[in-house]
Amino acid sequence: MNDVTRRTPDMLVLDDKQGTASASRVRAPLIDAFQRRISYLRLSVTDRCDLRCTYCMPERMTFLPKREVLTLEELYELSSGFIDRGVTKIRITGGEPLVRRDIMDLFTALGRRLGHDLEELTLTTNATQLAGHADALAKAGVRRVNISLDTLDRARFAELTRRDALPQVLEGIAAAKAAGLKVKLNAVALLGVNEHELTDLIAWAHGEGHDVTLIEVMPLGDVEQERLDQYLRLDTVRTRLEERWSLTDNEHSSGGPARYVDIAETGGRLGFITPHSNNFCATCNRLRVTATGQLYPCLGGSERVDLRAALRSDAPQEQLEEALNKTMLIKPERHHFRMDKRGADPALARHMSMTGG
Ligand code: SAM
Ligand code: SF4
Repeated sequence: MNDVTRRTPDMLVLDDKQGTASASRVRAPLIDAFQRRISYLRLSVTDRCDLRCTYCMPERMTFLPKREVLTLEELYELSSGFIDRGVTKIRITGGEPLVRRDIMDLFTALGRRLGHDLEELTLTTNATQLAGHADALAKAGVRRVNISLDTLDRARFAELTRRDALPQVLEGIAAAKAAGLKVKLNAVALLGVNEHELTDLIAWAHGEGHDVTLIEVMPLGDVEQERLDQYLRLDTVRTRLEERWSLTDNEHSSGGPARYVDIAETGGRLGFITPHSNNFCATCNRLRVTATGQLYPCLGGSERVDLRAALRSDAPQEQLEEALNKTMLIKPERHHFRMDKRGADPALARHMSMTGG
């Protein structure tokens, strides 16, 4: 174990000297077998959540025993290992990251690396608890947050997430804006659920100054519902939006898989994430790590490398390096999601709440 793993959570707050010192440690960059340079880590800090979105997990979800989950110190050490290999952007995700106790300590510690060897620290959240954390996130150096919101209708929200939490979520979004965080809303387009509300959702978000990204549902994990009954193609949504608004393609990239358009009438930007109808793998620059330290080089693949074993070994830094090198050899060229067979088993057994978004 090295110094970082021995730190207690409150000691995770590094002083400036330590942040700068680590800047000089950059090792060989992460480049996979298809010459894609990896610069972006999505780090899940918990598989737990206070909502139960019907497309994400079943009501009676089984969560991991806490002892299996990486400690905050391990999450920090692991992040450092990625930063040392040229990762410049880290998105904290889950499950719901803000349900993890003391998670702000991790934001504060990683925030100290901003301006040194880390360019961006962000968060994906359902915003139920964002009102209480928005100021602290901004103080830690977070500038942008992705917030998942599929509907503005309270009854539909309660049905869709199985929790009556829309007022808290709206409060969280308002708090983020007030704290100066740039908000992007993510909405999963769901057949027969929110499909006829998407224009209102986009118009509201753009009126508030927030970008929006629409996402196609992916067949990850058993959710006790037929996936095909949830799946709405985004080219259908785009066609419908074009009946009402003027959409112009925009070259903007957020470093993620979304393609963007500007909407003349709302003055806002809209992204489309279309894993099925438009494959986005060729420019993939991401790796995902679960809360138990399992590294998945592809959201749609079962390839996996155990970083927890590396972290808990006698030589964590060397083992971590070796594990990352191995990952570069097995990151697949593309995913093979299919959404064309009724009654099919999930493409992958793991839920999106394991790897985050
Ligand atoms: N709890 C946080 C949230 O909801 O923003 C972070 C984790 S959540 C798994 C990340 C994103 O994944 C959310 O935007 C959610 O809508 C999306 N998501 C979950 N399950 C999905 C699925 N099966 N297909 C597509 N998107 C999914
Ligand atoms: Fe929770 Fe996010 Fe999954 Fe919804 S999408 S159940 S908020 S992890």
